[in-house]
Amino acid sequence: MLAGDSSLIPIAGATDVLVHWPGNLEAKTRSYLDLSGLGELRSMQWADDTFTIGALTTYWDVICNEQCAQAFPLLINAARQVGSVQIQSRGTWAGNIINASPAADGVPVLMAYDATVVMQSCEGIEEIPLDEFYFGYKQMRRRTDQLVVAIRMPRRAHDVEIFEKVGARRAQAISKIGLAITHSQDGWRIVASAVAPTILRCKAIETLLEEGSPVRSPDDLMAAIAKDVSPIDDIRSSRLYRERVLARILYHDLKGIVPSFV
Ligand SMILES: Cc1cc2nc3c(=O)[nH]c(=O)nc-3n(C[C@H](O)[C@H](O)[C@H](O)COP(=O)(O)OP(=O)(O)OC[C@H]3O[C@@H](n4cnc5c(N)ncnc54)[C@H](O)[C@@H]3O)c2cc1C
Repeated sequence: MLAGDSSLIPIAGATDVLVHWPGNLEAKTRSYLDLSGLGELRSMQWADDTFTIGALTTYWDVICNEQCAQAFPLLINAARQVGSVQIQSRGTWAGNIINASPAADGVPVLMAYDATVVMQSCEGIEEIPLDEFYFGYKQMRRRTDQLVVAIRMPRRAHDVEIFEKVGARRAQAISKIGLAITHSQDGWRIVASAVAPTILRCKAIETLLEEGSPVRSPDDLMAAIAKDVSPIDDIRSSRLYRERVLARILYHDLKGIVPSFV
């Protein structure tokens, strides 16, 4: 159906799609493709070296999974901070990726775990690393005939796993800043949200950590942060607040863990 009609909009939990309905006449005239009958997409598969969640897996499915709490605790941490229980039980991780909000909470932790987006169309399967998936505000490497069918993460031992969400309150809040940090034998992953047109890895901060450059205060992180992010002033926060709070969270989270943070 997607191959035959490029205007069709897939619906999973509909928690993002339906928000646009009340005042948007155009949204009401579009055609939607309900995915809820595709039971095989609501799954979690554990292999020796990978963990794969189907595209209809909700936040609540993950919160309830004990193996996930052990192996991927940041997924639980982020899921618990998405909206409310009602949103957590309808909203999907795939919907969070495709909605492509720069302030999303699911995407940062998936990216910090090196997730890959698995898409399928009549032409076959395509897999794209999540940290290469976006190329601009709400712009992504998905064709309209492609359905996200799964999200896959490598199973690794991590010695650092941190997720921070800064919002106006503890529930039902859109992030002013989000931060996911992991460290494994494959290196540091520092992923920030709400500080650029897309959620992104902070490569300058990652390099600073890999090189062990001394960091004595949040100010010592500002030059690298300026290279990585480009926040805006909007109704939720200001550019200056976002940059400074990002530096402070990074510094205080990593001090005591990273020897170069003194
Ligand atoms: C009250 C409220 C609070 C919220 N709070 C938060 C929050 O705290 N943090 C946060 O990150 N988000 C929040 N959200 C946004 C939303 O709940 C999440 O982004 C959720 O993950 C979206 O998933 P969904 O399954 O509902 O997506 P849908 O609304 O069904 O779809 C979202 C987009 O993804 C596309 N899509 C869905 N599945 C597929 C697929 N398999 N293949 C291709 N395209 C697909 C749809 O076409 C659409 O473009 C909130 C929303 C509401 C209404």
